Amino acid sequence: MKALHLSGTRFDIATEYPRPEPLPGEVLVRVVRAGVCETDLQLIQGYMGFEGVLGHEFVGFAESGRFADQRVVAEINCSCWKCDTCRSGLPTHCPDRTVLGILGHDGAFAEYIAVPEQNLHTVPESLSTDEAVFVEPLAAAYQILKQGLAERGQSVVVLGDGRLGNLCAQVLADFGCNVLVVGKHDRKLNVLREINSEIKTTLLEDATPSRDADVVVDCTGSSTGLPTALQHVKPWGTVVLKTTVAGEQTLALAPIVIDEVRVVGSRCGPFGDALDGLQSGRIKVKPLITERFGLDQAVEALKLTSNQPVLKVLLDVSAE
Ligand SMILES: [Zn+2]
Ligand SMILES: [Zn+2]
Repeated sequence: MKALHLSGTRFDIATEYPRPEPLPGEVLVRVVRAGVCETDLQLIQGYMGFEGVLGHEFVGFAESGRFADQRVVAEINCSCWKCDTCRSGLPTHCPDRTVLGILGHDGAFAEYIAVPEQNLHTVPESLSTDEAVFVEPLAAAYQILKQGLAERGQSVVVLGDGRLGNLCAQVLADFGCNVLVVGKHDRKLNVLREINSEIKTTLLEDATPSRDADVVVDCTGSSTGLPTALQHVKPWGTVVLKTTVAGEQTLALAPIVIDEVRVVGSRCGPFGDALDGLQSGRIKVKPLITERFGLDQAVEALKLTSNQPVLKVLLDVSAE
């Protein structure tokens, strides 16, 4: 089968990559569509040292099992479900987990992917495949609410106008927070304002941090995100780190102590909430789709996403 394979920082389309052999509990899913994510861009720079097939945001059709022939999306953490961490209710932190297209498990930029059956969710009829590709990143945005990091009526600054910043802003505004998005691209901020006129936006160069935000969500994917967040957050406020950055960063930690700021990481989230948000129309994702490529052009898709300020780039992998 065709697959986009990464080794070190080299990636290319392999035309005769072996079709995945499902492990016990896994089923084969025929991939229809996939999305390029910031994490993919970090992986091709060597983050996690991943070697294998990239891709973790996708929609496909299960080939067997109780979801056979259904259109599905999949949670990306493949957990053991036996260890203390899993049994304590934190399977996404299983020390023995693999993660689709990120850690020890081939991903979805391929004609087929093997996925644990219990990770699958049926896509409701009313959702288009294009919309369903956003379930995984949208679930990550909902994780902020699941972690209880924001309350209705609070002022929230979202740093970053990219894919994840957009989704986090929509989720928090829909929840009832007063959201300001700080970005670098007027065009992307415009997309957000058109989706939800209650979301306020400003260009980074025009932003005047005044340490009055209850919550700051860093979706910049940049090592400058956390220091900028600390300029916006108020004493006793919360900084939520949503993006991973390859490499190390140096930062003066004293302001966190002095202002007694809470800094919290936030990663994968609830698929059910994401499916509900899309199905109800409260979250809109179609305006984020900037470009689409065939699987054959996956290298171009990754390069475009790396080099241009695009929102979502989709891969049309196979026909529905
Ligand atoms: Zn992702
Ligand atoms: Zn486990």
